[in-house]
Amino acid sequence: MNKWGGSDGISIVTPTEEAEMSKVVVDRSKCTGLGICESLASAFFEVDDNGELIQLREDVPDDELASVEQAVQGCPTEALRIVR
Ligand code: SF4
Repeated sequence: MNKWGGSDGISIVTPTEEAEMSKVVVDRSKCTGLGICESLASAFFEVDDNGELIQLREDVPDDELASVEQAVQGCPTEALRIVR
């Protein structure tokens, strides 16, 4: 309690949507740059001319989760993972 009789507590409001958004992560030690993920979720993945995977986005909104899940399942080396 402070000297005015109020609380010293600070409340921080965090947007729950952001806190609960899924993320897709790449294990680069497993990725072989075949680009199957790019064909299934091109908004998230791109393979450059050198066969390097470029991850375009990490946060996955609910309405794009299905395509990213397909990419995760389609990756032959199991390099992709969705975390919440
Ligand atoms: S499908 Fe898998 S191995 Fe192929 S580029 Fe994407 S993450 Fe890498």
